[in-house]
Amino acid sequence: MGYAKIDDRVSGGKLVEYDTCACRHCSAVIKIVKRQPQGAYCMPCGGPVCNRAPCNTRCRPMEQRVERFKRVVEQQRRSTAFAQAAGLQMR
Ligand SMILES: [Zn+2]
Ligand SMILES: [Zn+2]
Repeated sequence: MGYAKIDDRVSGGKLVEYDTCACRHCSAVIKIVKRQPQGAYCMPCGGPVCNRAPCNTRCRPMEQRVERFKRVVEQQRRSTAFAQAAGLQMR
């Protein structure tokens, strides 16, 4: 949760203040107007997500991305070990 303030009075606008929260998927800042986050709501995450695709089209929390990254690293490590076992040098 955060807080944002836009002072546009200098250019003839008005002072706008609003609370903010972070998108559960990409950590983008989402405005909260009248206690309603201005974005989509992700049921699996139980929190607000921003209006940009793919955040608002499917659930892809950061934890899932970290898990996927770990799997890729593990696969690369295994293929490197296999190549070394086969007498090949990976450089
Ligand atoms: Zn997002
Ligand atoms: Zn989600």
